[in-house]
Amino acid sequence: MQIRARHFETLQPIDLIIEGDTIQSICTVECSPDEAASLPFVCPGFFDIQINGFGGVWFSSPELTVDQVSAITQALVDRGIARFFPTLITASFEALQHGFSTLRHAREAVPLVAAAVEGYHLEGPYISPDDGPRGAHPLKHVRAADYEEFSCLQDAAAGQIKLITLAAEAENAVPFIRKVREQGVVVSLGHMAASAVQIQAAVDAGATLSTHLGNGAHGILPRHPNYLWDQLAEDRLSASVIADGWHLPESVLRCILKCKTLANTILTCDVSGFAGCPPGVYAEGDVGVEVLPDGRLVVAGQRQFLAGSGATTGDCVVHMMQACGIELATAVRMATTNPAQLMGMETPTVDAGQPATLSVFCTSKDLVDGKIRFLPISTYLQGRLVSGLNTT
Ligand SMILES: [Zn+2]
Repeated sequence: MQIRARHFETLQPIDLIIEGDTIQSICTVECSPDEAASLPFVCPGFFDIQINGFGGVWFSSPELTVDQVSAITQALVDRGIARFFPTLITASFEALQHGFSTLRHAREAVPLVAAAVEGYHLEGPYISPDDGPRGAHPLKHVRAADYEEFSCLQDAAAGQIKLITLAAEAENAVPFIRKVREQGVVVSLGHMAASAVQIQAAVDAGATLSTHLGNGAHGILPRHPNYLWDQLAEDRLSASVIADGWHLPESVLRCILKCKTLANTILTCDVSGFAGCPPGVYAEGDVGVEVLPDGRLVVAGQRQFLAGSGATTGDCVVHMMQACGIELATAVRMATTNPAQLMGMETPTVDAGQPATLSVFCTSKDLVDGKIRFLPISTYLQGRLVSGLNTT
């Protein structure tokens, strides 16, 4: 199989040959500037550590089915996301157990899911009960950190919960973090209202990431100290950001990037289970969410607190480039290499001998707002074309 595209780093036109599950060779193609400009880009498959669902289905739904997991996975690879963590948010033990065991069955039964799903993210339920930090997570299921409960969920997940987000101030957080770190689970801080001392203690215990820094926070905070400064200043914490154009102003994205550096900033779309749904008010269990005509998803009944995004990872890559004035290759690394590095996983490049897990896409300039938009073309997973058309 052959792909003709521009290499995301060199921007040079290349012919990339796939043999089995590997990139066998890459050779530069001589062509005119116009021909080169008409070619799509090829980069390692986007890897998103926070995907809540799609098309009206949440991974945390107590009725989640294998077919739904399969359909969401196809919708994601259709948008260039080749590797991802299904993310279960705060819910009852039964709903979480059902979600993780359904994901396990889906990986066993559906090869596409097995190839694309690299592990699971548990976001909650050990988070702040406060309005603001809690975001769209249902209050009645917020609880103290409980290692025994987590162990049962990890059993249901066949050991595939690889990332957990919790609040640094949750009851029992520090011993909980130590124990899950021993199991190799990466710990992220988020949906919290913690003090500097509590954040320090959580990082000392092994937390290494801030989940969607700047969101899942109070609408109004003391100017200082507050938990945003404390996380920005802590070099042992990488940060994920939702760079969808709605969740963070461009100045905040630029500040986070400066504090965390290019190597320790991770792009996530945090796509909502209601992404891909028409405008309206939706409810999933106890979570009321309104999809607005402009594409924002908010906690129903107000406009201040967002409830996940309607964008996907490629949209965030292109927005991050424009918001921060960075190159395509740099923004792509934040959605490929950086999350993989944080998770201690394979960090593929587009070179001979590398896995043929690739996203092919182009961009177009919107005639109305002048912004550049992401357009997925095709996605390859371990040498297989799983979405779109082969480009040659
Ligand atoms: Zn969240």
